[in-house]
Amino acid sequence: MADTRSFDDRDGSIWMDGKLVPWREANVHILTHAMHYASSVFEGQRAYGGTIFKLHEHSERLRRSASILGFDLPWSADEIDEACNAVLAANGLTDAYVRPVAWRGSEQMGVSAQRTRPHLAIAAWEWGKYFDPALAAKGIRLDISPWRRPAPYTAPTESKAAGLYMICTMAKHHAENRGYNDALMFDWRGRIAEATGANAFFVKDGALHTPTPDCFLDGITRRTVIDLARKRGIEVIERAIWPEELESFQQFFLTGSAAEVTFVGSAGPWNFEVGDLSRQLARDYDDLVNRRQV
Ligand code: PMP
Repeated sequence: MADTRSFDDRDGSIWMDGKLVPWREANVHILTHAMHYASSVFEGQRAYGGTIFKLHEHSERLRRSASILGFDLPWSADEIDEACNAVLAANGLTDAYVRPVAWRGSEQMGVSAQRTRPHLAIAAWEWGKYFDPALAAKGIRLDISPWRRPAPYTAPTESKAAGLYMICTMAKHHAENRGYNDALMFDWRGRIAEATGANAFFVKDGALHTPTPDCFLDGITRRTVIDLARKRGIEVIERAIWPEELESFQQFFLTGSAAEVTFVGSAGPWNFEVGDLSRQLARDYDDLVNRRQV
């Protein structure tokens, strides 16, 4: 059973700045720079049968995300890996979601944060499918987001920075309030970008098409699925994709560490089938993360 308690009121341990602390004591001060100015970056990864999938890539991305925002973490990617595994072990988890988060502390208030110290915390919890499996089996319904992904010269789009998620939450709420499961976001040019927390893939006549990640995250799952498709001899085309083309795509799925491979049934007025190619890649991904032969 999923734990429905508030996330600040659970049992277990959270790793914070080098040591495990009781879950309810993993707190920060209200005058933490990150709270006021979004100087925070995070990761999200899943453990399958006790092994965190692509852990080292996530730890490296976390460090890179922080350095893009101008703060360097004093923990190496190997040390972050070790801490993530310690969190799993301390909480007795084997199949879980792991959330590292790094932020600037409270030494300084105001826009400048030169004297703040970097912090790192890692929590983990059991987390089922990101989308209701019954919905996802038929394909989730996407709204078209009124918010567009910003241009790389207006936001640090290569960082998994908390601030970039402000419009994702707003787009997600807008979609949910209108009866949709998530939203498809265009970019500042009007091209198709991604969903609020996952990358987009389309199937057309046996080939995979996916937008070039030049203003949004080049997801670890995205790259994994591209490799899996190429291994099967499926052509993968990374390119600019415009909304006018949605009509010509037969299948559509999302990828992400949380969302895994999620089928999309519709996006705005456009409908898609849950087809063989999407199903095959979802199975391949599932086999890979569970270390079954692909
Ligand atoms: N885009 C956004 C906005 C995301 O939040 C995520 C999830 N981290 C992704 C794409 C997919 O990235 P990954 O496959 O590395 O989890």
